[in-house]
Amino acid sequence: MEKYIEKVFAWVQQKNPGEPEFHQAVKEVLDSLEPVMSRHPEYQEAGILERLVEPERVIMFRVPWVDDKGRCRVNRGYRIQFSSAIGPYKGGLRFHSNVNLGILKFLAFEQVFKNSLTTLPMGGGKGGSDFNPQAGSDGEVMRFCQSFMAELFRHVGPDTDVPAGDIGVGGREIGYLFGQYKRLVNKFTGVLTGKGVTWGGSLIRPAATGYGSVYFAEEMLKTRADSFKGKTCVVSGSGNVSQYTVEKLNHLGAKAVTLSDSNGFIHDPEGIDADKLSFVMELKNVKRGRIKEYADKYSVKYYEGQKPWGIKCDAAFPSATQNEIDEKDAETLLKNGCFVVSEGANMPTTPEGVEKFIKAKILYGPGKAANAGGVATSGLEMSQNSIRMSWDKEEVDRRLKEIMRSIHEATLRAAKDYGCPGNYVAGANIAGFLKVAAAMLDQGIV
Ligand code: NDP
Repeated sequence: MEKYIEKVFAWVQQKNPGEPEFHQAVKEVLDSLEPVMSRHPEYQEAGILERLVEPERVIMFRVPWVDDKGRCRVNRGYRIQFSSAIGPYKGGLRFHSNVNLGILKFLAFEQVFKNSLTTLPMGGGKGGSDFNPQAGSDGEVMRFCQSFMAELFRHVGPDTDVPAGDIGVGGREIGYLFGQYKRLVNKFTGVLTGKGVTWGGSLIRPAATGYGSVYFAEEMLKTRADSFKGKTCVVSGSGNVSQYTVEKLNHLGAKAVTLSDSNGFIHDPEGIDADKLSFVMELKNVKRGRIKEYADKYSVKYYEGQKPWGIKCDAAFPSATQNEIDEKDAETLLKNGCFVVSEGANMPTTPEGVEKFIKAKILYGPGKAANAGGVATSGLEMSQNSIRMSWDKEEVDRRLKEIMRSIHEATLRAAKDYGCPGNYVAGANIAGFLKVAAAMLDQGIV
């Protein structure tokens, strides 16, 4: 069986050259699946793995737009429709200058398993562009989004593919994208999630990924009869996921002491309380400033060009980007006593870092499980759009909490069933895979 899995991975490397992040994501999943494939020879016979590593469809397109000086600018747009085995494609759009095909394929691939774990009927997809919204005025961002949707609209729809936000795509961008979609198809439908609450959005959706990552960590702590009370937490990033991670940590009596952006991080030993957090939200979501301004305002230390993993903590919440914790960072965290890691970001830990966490037997929740609260609540937004109702905050939060609890349970159960108890990485990959594989088997070779 090992040989067969190696063969599939070699094929992935050969067919997708120059896409290291995609190789990394595929390898992690395939490595977990050996005991499953041994127990289910029918999956090999039906070519489940060979089909699962090949996206159903990849769309690449030109996005021309006009900047404030009247000049023509051109970016590249993408949508990866990876798997529709268990529902319409679902996954965010990322606008960042480093976006390329390989990064979006890794994200779309991960999304397939994550969405399966949520218990909701959603396939996996991801998309975006190498456009950097931070460098543009509101008008430029709007014109870019309109041009992006002028092509994307023909490939998406409420029963086909439902994009959402990700890095660089927040409420503002979703608004512009939705406005253009509606104008082109002349229909008010739930084609995007993360919408404003007055036009079809769900309460709690903006908070869901961060809240969910903390709920997941809380479940992990419960397995050791522990809680967040009095715990010191290190958080990276300062965008959507990071902000609501800090908010929920505060609700649960923990102390978040760091935030970062691509320029550096701040360390506030007193904790980022609710007032300071609203300063961050205004700074990042409205003024679109840099995290250094927090250090200036509250007279705390700012570390230019560094990541926060050297700060002593009980729990770490990597919530910025892929591969932000390497082997050395993982060692430093462990040495300083960190025993909980809950990944708000997608694949924020390198394979060598993951190995360190697993070996140390800490409570390590991989992104696929820990950050699934965002897409789960997007699923709840789709449900509310379909029945033309909106649930109140308490109802959505209750459902989110319950979904995170059940993801945690399914992950632990799968890990135990397949011989690696306590290993959340293997558990998440196996539990996510089993549902998708069974659906693929039922639907024939398509
Ligand atoms: P935002 O754009 O709101 O925030 C991203 C944050 O990460 C910013 O502080 C940004 O800093 C920082 N960052 C981005 N790229 C880099 C980089 N290359 N190096 C250092 N810092 C970086 O994005 P989100 O909060 O939505 O997403 C954060 C992570 O969470 C991503 O990995 C995303 O895939 C994942 N995620 C998000 C979900 C969601 O619902 N939004 C759902 C599930 C996962 P700067 O401003 O300087 O660029």
